[in-house]
Amino acid sequence: MIPVTKPFLPQIQEYGEYMNTIWERQWLTNNGPLVNELELKLKSYLGLDHLLYISSGTMALQIAIKALKLKGEIITTPFSFVATTSSIVWEGCTPVFADIEKDTFNIDPTKIEKAITPQTTAILATHVFGNPCDIDAIQDIANRFNLKVIYDAAHCFGVKYKNKSVFDYGDVSATSFHATKLFHTIEGGAVFTKCPDLLKTMAFMRNFGHNGPEEFADLGINGKNSEFHAAMGLCNLNHIDNILERRKDLYLHYRKILGGLGVSFQKLKDEQSYNYAYFPVVFESQQLMYACIEALAHEKIFCRRYFYPSLSSLPYVAPVNLPVCESIVNNIICLPMYHSLTKSDIEMIARIMLRVQNYGLSVPSPKTHDSAVLEKEIEEILTKKVEV
Ligand SMILES: *Cc1c(COP(=O)(O)O)cnc(C)c1O
Repeated sequence: MIPVTKPFLPQIQEYGEYMNTIWERQWLTNNGPLVNELELKLKSYLGLDHLLYISSGTMALQIAIKALKLKGEIITTPFSFVATTSSIVWEGCTPVFADIEKDTFNIDPTKIEKAITPQTTAILATHVFGNPCDIDAIQDIANRFNLKVIYDAAHCFGVKYKNKSVFDYGDVSATSFHATKLFHTIEGGAVFTKCPDLLKTMAFMRNFGHNGPEEFADLGINGKNSEFHAAMGLCNLNHIDNILERRKDLYLHYRKILGGLGVSFQKLKDEQSYNYAYFPVVFESQQLMYACIEALAHEKIFCRRYFYPSLSSLPYVAPVNLPVCESIVNNIICLPMYHSLTKSDIEMIARIMLRVQNYGLSVPSPKTHDSAVLEKEIEEILTKKVEV
């Protein structure tokens, strides 16, 4: 079985060593030494002065909105994970969707400007699949209209923009360290800001608003994370260069081998400083997409329609017509991408997709699930009729 994603896991012994130290200290949560160590190492790895480790990426977004005291309308992207929109609504604000760019899948700055009203207080944009938004254009709009900027940078670990971590942009950036992300701490996330006051506010908010054991500085929530989660992060951080290198290798292999198919790829802002976290493909037609999903699933290879559906169709938002987003959500899937995926897995996926493209739905299903037999069969078809 090839799932769409698999979490990276360090050797159990490596994690076990951290467990031994936790058992010795009996300090399980509440800003413990492993949480502190993880924060320090992340700052150093990312080249950033400030960050706060949070219980999840969603909590990070909610704390960001709360700390910026946002009210009214927040302009956001319809093409993201549900948490981007739900956190706006959860914090009592109204999401206003601006359509996306066809090639980068990121929010279109020209559409942001058109969506501004007297009620607009902020822009919440996602760097989709880790591909940075047009940060300069967004910041320019924010400056001109006096708006705050939050980035949902959940996919962005290791991504740089203009030689700095992409987490360094916006009033606040929020990321996720969920198990499905390129760098993970099982569950977890972080907020980043350059503003010391905002950092302080978010630090209080993360811990119930406590300012010492008997005093409260602000309204807060439980946004902390545990020593067990931090330990996973410390282990995974030891492997991050290897994880990033492998992702790039796999991504480029996909690109090469799928180049001749009727699919298009995300236009990347800067290939040199990208993290290659996902492999999205957009099909020319929905029919071809469904046929590929089906043919792959038949061989126990699973993709995911991601992101789907458009966030503007959520039951708790006002529906709005966003033609570019609609055209993407209906035709996009993410192909399997994870550390232990192999190049021959990718070749297998490409062959199945190629076969569907060339023979459509009329291709007889292979009579076997045996991958060696299947591969041979596909190979035969390919060598007879098409060139890879
Ligand atoms: C994963 C993800 C989130 C939510 O992060 P959690 O840590 O799962 O709460 C938010 N936005 C995007 C774009 C994501 O991919």
